[in-house]
Amino acid sequence: MKKNIVVIGAGLVGSLLSIYLSRRGYKVKMFERRGDMRQENIPGGRSINLALSDRGLLALEKMGLAEEIRNIAIPMHGRFMHNLDGSTAFQPYGKEGQYIHSVSRGELNKKLLDAAEQSGVELFFYEKCFEINWQENEVVFENVLTENTTDVDADVIFGADGAFSAARLQHQLNHEKFDYQQHYIDWGYKELTIPAGPGNSFRLEKNVLHIWPRKAYMLIALPNLNGDFTCTLFFPFEGELSFEKLDTKEKVISFFETTFPDTLGLIPDLTDQFFANPVSSLVTVKCFPWIREDSFALIGDAAHAIVPFFGQGMNCGFEDCRILDELMDKYGDDWSTILYEYQRQRKPDADAIADLAVSNFIEMRDKTADPKFLLQKKLEARLHEKHPRKWIPAYSLVTFSPHIRYSDAFRNAMRQEAIMQQIMMRPDIEENWQSEEIEKLILSKL
Ligand SMILES: Cc1cc2nc3c(=O)[nH]c(=O)nc-3n(C[C@H](O)[C@H](O)[C@H](O)COP(=O)(O)OP(=O)(O)OC[C@H]3O[C@@H](n4cnc5c(N)ncnc54)[C@H](O)[C@@H]3O)c2cc1C
Repeated sequence: MKKNIVVIGAGLVGSLLSIYLSRRGYKVKMFERRGDMRQENIPGGRSINLALSDRGLLALEKMGLAEEIRNIAIPMHGRFMHNLDGSTAFQPYGKEGQYIHSVSRGELNKKLLDAAEQSGVELFFYEKCFEINWQENEVVFENVLTENTTDVDADVIFGADGAFSAARLQHQLNHEKFDYQQHYIDWGYKELTIPAGPGNSFRLEKNVLHIWPRKAYMLIALPNLNGDFTCTLFFPFEGELSFEKLDTKEKVISFFETTFPDTLGLIPDLTDQFFANPVSSLVTVKCFPWIREDSFALIGDAAHAIVPFFGQGMNCGFEDCRILDELMDKYGDDWSTILYEYQRQRKPDADAIADLAVSNFIEMRDKTADPKFLLQKKLEARLHEKHPRKWIPAYSLVTFSPHIRYSDAFRNAMRQEAIMQQIMMRPDIEENWQSEEIEKLILSKL
């Protein structure tokens, strides 16, 4: 029986994974390069808050944690669009009762660390993985405060150390045929805060995800429990209108005045925040293999970092944990088979959600000004409304159908898109898109 498991990285996915493993009776040690965020004020990293949806909740539910996390989350029932002319529109995410949750990355991570500790996981902070000795199956950690190194041996090692994983690099350097792809999109993001109103009141509608769609860029805002909203501006790094060009207070104010006028009054210290907060990049990472025989696996962003345009990175990492758990149920202590099956199932699913997320980005960047594309979206929305079981948008399958694999959602999206491409070629489509004939034709192709 393999008993000792080392988890590298105590972020969202490493923490949940360690709970799953510890509750099965494994002796789990988890090492984190930063300090303990429950005791120190440590910046959480990539984004301040996240959209948690049904896949993530299902994985939490299996560990009995979903209720506790729902208590620190805010339901968001749909998108609240802020148009340039000042008009607004609410688009529900799905049917009644289908919603996603805004949750603070830091608070969620802290709850998971507490639960990990209560489950018997040993936690080590300020310990940074910098080498793995594959012959001995030992991880070498350096304490970032003392610079002392420690060798920790393990029967199974999990690399849960995020998009820029040191464990993955060690694996890559010692693997003859390691496939690796890393792709940065040409947009970055900057976070800004809309402060709470008097008495921690919300200054915008609370239970929605706010979006200011502006063709070549967009601003979104998610609510936090203390009444403020975290906004994320997704915007090109370079070019005529870009982060690079917004280099003075006057330019930032003028850009917001013309582009997001209704936010100006909500962010009194806009320019201070704008120049204090960093511009961060958005990357997709794909790699293979994720495993080494029966003793090592990558999980979460370390295996598959994706861009956030489906709000699925963490959800996907949590799903990794749930699937791994199901495989442990099935194959007991046969780690060769568990890890082989884990990779076999999860790699195509992770690739699928990575590709869906990038295509969503490309749609937003390149197509939202195209009248034909907008007509297609209207036609698809109408089809879904009239035939909700037959025509299902990728967003619904990904977000609200946790038992449907990402790869199946991807195939469904491709099939629907192929049908749409044919239909949109019809010369009469502008006049007849609402006709019964078109509707019947589409349904006959499904
Ligand atoms: C702008 C933005 C918005 C997002 N929004 C969403 C969303 O709405 N919904 C969603 O599901 N996902 C979202 N994501 C994705 C989500 O943030 C990630 O998928 C998620 O954080 C992955 O968790 P992880 O534990 O795998 O990695 P991380 O959260 O990156 O955690 C990795 C941990 O490993 C530690 N570590 C790193 N290197 C070492 C080392 N050498 N030794 C020891 N420890 C190490 C780090 O300090 C960190 O604690 C978003 C991402 C971005 C960038």
